[in-house]
Formats: sequence, structure tokens, C-alpha cells
Amino acid sequence: MNPNSTLRTVPAPPHDERLYVTQPHLAPLAEFIPYLEKIWSSKVLTNGGPFHQQLEAALCEYLGVRHLSLFTNGTLALVTALQALRITGEVITTPYSFVATAHSLLWNGVKPVFVDIDPHTLNIDPGKIEAAITPQTTAIMPVHCYGHPCDVDAIQSIADNYNLKVIYDAAHAFGVERDDGSILNHGDLAILSFHATKVFNTFEGGAIVCPDAKTKQRVDHLKNFGYVDEVTVVAPGINGKMSEINAAFGLLQLRHIDEALTRRKAIAAQYRALLRDVKGIRCLGDAGEKVANYAYFPVIVEDGYPLTREQLYQAFRDCDIIARRYFYPLISDFPMYRGLPSAHRDNLPVAANAAARVLCLPIYPSLSDADVERVVSVVANPPRAIGND
Ligand SMILES: *Cc1c(COP(=O)(O)O)cnc(C)c1O
Repeated sequence: MNPNSTLRTVPAPPHDERLYVTQPHLAPLAEFIPYLEKIWSSKVLTNGGPFHQQLEAALCEYLGVRHLSLFTNGTLALVTALQALRITGEVITTPYSFVATAHSLLWNGVKPVFVDIDPHTLNIDPGKIEAAITPQTTAIMPVHCYGHPCDVDAIQSIADNYNLKVIYDAAHAFGVERDDGSILNHGDLAILSFHATKVFNTFEGGAIVCPDAKTKQRVDHLKNFGYVDEVTVVAPGINGKMSEINAAFGLLQLRHIDEALTRRKAIAAQYRALLRDVKGIRCLGDAGEKVANYAYFPVIVEDGYPLTREQLYQAFRDCDIIARRYFYPLISDFPMYRGLPSAHRDNLPVAANAAARVLCLPIYPSLSDADVERVVSVVANPPRAIGND
């Protein structure tokens, strides 16, 4: 028997009513068949085939960016972006992200230097970047966390002053715009992820957004072993190419992305309205974006709430709702990072506090209004905390 069953506030639903933090948005299967038929008849499976080219063009158009190179996944895109700009030494980054952000630095033999985050946006705090710059610093790798734009102007001016590159991990920021257009046009390069859990997915996939054709060409070479033509290899490249199946699926998914984003927006509005009067629960605000993507719905469990974040997380699980503690633990607390001087807790108090208090609630296009009400009913009528653990 579940020892926590006395904490239940709503009857446990059957297993198939379990709610996850996300569910992939999938275009109707029947619509995918014609794409597969084309691949089967052409026998072009990869290596920059027609669907790969079409998806690059379609994404440039949809996102409002000039050049983009598709990848197998977002992590290889991050690793390759650092290669493309020949980043070495130290790179300033955030501890409050998915672990791939910092892993991409280690895969390049680069030392991550963690800088604390802003309490309002949970993005890297530009006011704390300068103090972390050393003669070894070559770049800044910020993350548009939850799809909320970083303070790109402040970051660029620091980069300009110190002659640093800026590579945005924009894995969460598909379709996000400020007044000046796509957030992806900021920095020397920006990286997208099209993983199954992201707003726009190609099962697995990713991309590097490049400011000019020359940079895109270098990236294209790097993702294809460094090959320029049949007999010329110009760099120690990797295999990061997106397959035709994934690219074709991306073209189909793109036809349905607007409806997905519209539904996400409605869910976020419903959460905000229903959670407005719940004492001790704060919804993370936006960060000045003109077009948001509602990729996540993070709430902050404050001291005025009757449960801790851990207790609320467990109360959800007891009701078959799988909320997620993004981002806990901090990247800087994982074993391969925690020995770094910048990983010390005293250096990262805001990030440590966020990691202990944030919970991401389910949000995805097929989540119903009733599902949202079920989630909110757990938050609004929490079981009484038993003990103080
Ligand atoms: C998902 C994600 C990645 C990695 O992308 P993959 O496509 O899964 O390799 C990198 N950074 C952040 C912030 C992410 O959320």
C-alpha cells in the first residue's frame, strides 16, 4: 500500500490518465505516408537530400532567420557550434539549464565558468558576467531558459567590450520573438533542439542558426566529416546530419505548429487565471518577449505555501501527475562540474534557490481544460504536510 495514500486530495485516476509534464505533438500519421513514399521511391535517405533542403528553407522562413543548418540533435549542434567558432579556454555559462549545455563545453575541452542567474527571468545575470571574465575567457554561452529571452543587449555589449563570442543555447526558444524579431538572430550562433519533448519536434533533431552564408557553409562542412567535395576534407568534422525521415517529418510538423502554439498559449492563460489566488505559488513572468512559445509552465513554490516544492512534487505523483523539477539538480552540482571554483554554492545563490523551488507543470497541446483544472486542484487544495521533511 502506498504509505502516502492519506495525502490524497482527489481519487487516484486509472493509470492511463497519468499526466506528464509534456507529450509530443504529432501530426496525423496518414499525412506522413506521402512523404515516406517519396523517400522510398527516390532512395535518398540522408546527406542533405531534398527534404533536408526544404526544411532548412521552410524553417528560415517560419522563424525569420537568414541561415540555418539542420542537425541530428541539439547536443551535436552545440558541440559543433563551439568547433565552428574555434572556442577554447573558458566559457561563461549558466548552471540553471539542461546538462547538455555544459557537457558541450567539456566535449570541446573547454572549461565552463558558472555565473548566477537573474531571479526574475532565471536566465544568466548579465550584471555578474564581467566579474567571471579572465584572460582565458573566449565566449559566453547563455540559455533562453523556458523560452524566455536573455538580456541579449547587455550580453552583446559585454561580449563586444571583451572581444568574446556569444553562442545561445536556444533549445527552448523555437518561435520566440522580441520587438526586433526572432530571438534566434542574436549572438554569433544560436542552437535549437527538435527533441521529442520540445515545442517543435522531429523525433530527434536540432539546428544551428547562422548569421551569414559563410558561417553556414563552415557548419555544413563540420557536420559532414569536414567534407567539401569527394576528395577534400577541410576540418576534423563529425557526422551531425539530419536524415531525410526526420526532415520530412519536420516539414509535416511545421504545417501544424501554429495550432500547437495557440493551444499552449490558451493553457498558459488558464493556469495563470486559476493560480492567481493561490497563496505562495508564483508563476514565472515573461521576459519582454513579443511572441512567446509557452514551452514550459514553471511555478515557484514560495515560503507562504503550505508545502515545500518536494512535498508538492510528491503530492502530484500521488495523484498520477508527473510534474518535473527543471532544473534540479543544478548542472554545477553534477560530479564532473562540482569541483570547479565557480560551481561553489556561494557563487550561485539565486540558481540554488530556483533549483529548490521551481516545478514545471504539464503543458502540451493535447492537455484538456479539465486536465489543467485537475492539476490546479492539487496545487490549490494541497494535502496537509505531515512532518516537516
Ligand atoms: C533539450 C536541450 C538540449 C539538448 O537537445 P537535444 O536535441 O536533446 O540533444 C540542450 N540544451 C537545452 C537547454 C535543452 O533543453
